[in-house]
Amino acid sequence: MKVDFSKYPISSRGYSERPMAFLDIGPSKVFGGIFELILIETGSRTARAQWQKTQLRNLLTHATQRSSFWRNRVGAKRSDSKLSALPILTRADVKQQVAQEGSLLRPTDGLQTFMHGTSGSSGVPVQFHVSQMNSQYNLVRQLAQYFMDGNDLSVNRTRIKTATASNAKKIATIPSGFTVEKGPSWLGELGSVFASGGSKLIEFLNPNMRDLVRELRKDAVGLLVANPGTVSALISRYGAKLLRELRVSEWIALAEEIDPVLYQAIVEQGIPVRSTYSCEEVGSIAFECEATPGHYHVTTSNVVVEIAGDLHEIEGKKLGRVLVTHLHSYATPFIRYDLGDLALLKETCPCGHDGPTIHSLYGRVTNALKHRDGTFSRFYIRGHELLKVVEFTEFRVRQVGLDAIAIELGGRETLTPEEIASVTAFLKTRAGDEFKIDVIARAAIDWGDSIKRQSFRCEV
Ligand SMILES: [Zn+2]
Repeated sequence: MKVDFSKYPISSRGYSERPMAFLDIGPSKVFGGIFELILIETGSRTARAQWQKTQLRNLLTHATQRSSFWRNRVGAKRSDSKLSALPILTRADVKQQVAQEGSLLRPTDGLQTFMHGTSGSSGVPVQFHVSQMNSQYNLVRQLAQYFMDGNDLSVNRTRIKTATASNAKKIATIPSGFTVEKGPSWLGELGSVFASGGSKLIEFLNPNMRDLVRELRKDAVGLLVANPGTVSALISRYGAKLLRELRVSEWIALAEEIDPVLYQAIVEQGIPVRSTYSCEEVGSIAFECEATPGHYHVTTSNVVVEIAGDLHEIEGKKLGRVLVTHLHSYATPFIRYDLGDLALLKETCPCGHDGPTIHSLYGRVTNALKHRDGTFSRFYIRGHELLKVVEFTEFRVRQVGLDAIAIELGGRETLTPEEIASVTAFLKTRAGDEFKIDVIARAAIDWGDSIKRQSFRCEV
């Protein structure tokens, strides 16, 4: 291994002017942090396992000392418990612990804590506490990946995300449906050392797509960080060539299942696609391998990943539920937390990386169509394809029974019998003939609390 920064764009005044110092304190901490994380994740497996074991013990000691909820779960075994012996933590459990006990960090711990929540994209939103350490970690870990991958730091970085619960109210009053925040660098405190491109953060609720594209045209997009749903919405209207026009250098997809048609269309434009697997509750879980697409190196400096034995069959593959243990979850512990995602785990990656590797990541089980024999299948309904069959402004498909699908078409007061017949036929070719299809006209679809408007959801 050779560490060499000769190819990196370094600011002429990037180094410290303090006596006996190299970098200023802020960047020095971040730079050191990046090296520590790369060391843990790519270094000795044995040393890493020992470190994780100790960190888990630390977390269990903390949780059982401060929480009767956790004392009850962990029982007499306390902090020496083997992870696999502990019960699985559900969303409902987290809600209960947070409601009963609040944050397990106290002001005297000297770490700031914040309330954080999921958008409810996968069902009921959940609120929990995170610490200052968690947000600092997330920032450093994200930067570490750019160094591990040797990314070009001089391009811009554009992040497009659904509004967090706290911003949603404000964004609801803006006609375009989104806010834009720009900064001179996306490297945080390292921006004073490395000359990076600019950063742009777009948070949206229900964006006017034309306004959104107009905003994206203002600057080269560079690294595009967005979930597949967002990119799919852009491309279904403007085609995959839009990404080239917007000067996207790479799409970093926040994993979720990427529709293979979408993936292919983007790769054909010469734009690399890399996925990261993360969630609001624990932050980073895994990053897609550069050499072996579809394989994700687990972020071992942050989480332990297990696959629960209860297997679900999807298109001939038996997948298990992903359980994550967040080693730094001192405010609201996440230990053996069931994300509702399906995947498999390997001890090592085919690329040679000596660490746990997630593959066959399916995403939420609720994104799959459930069949009577207990198996699941992938189910993609694309807006632009459905638009060839019927007019609508928005749509939602729900599996409401083992052999029943309901589709709502927004912007429609009524539907003709011919339209209903064509939509029914379209869905039957995708789902199977055994499904009864209910086609419903809606002036507007009631999305409830869900910020991310999922086009399909299995409710069985
Ligand atoms: Zn790999």
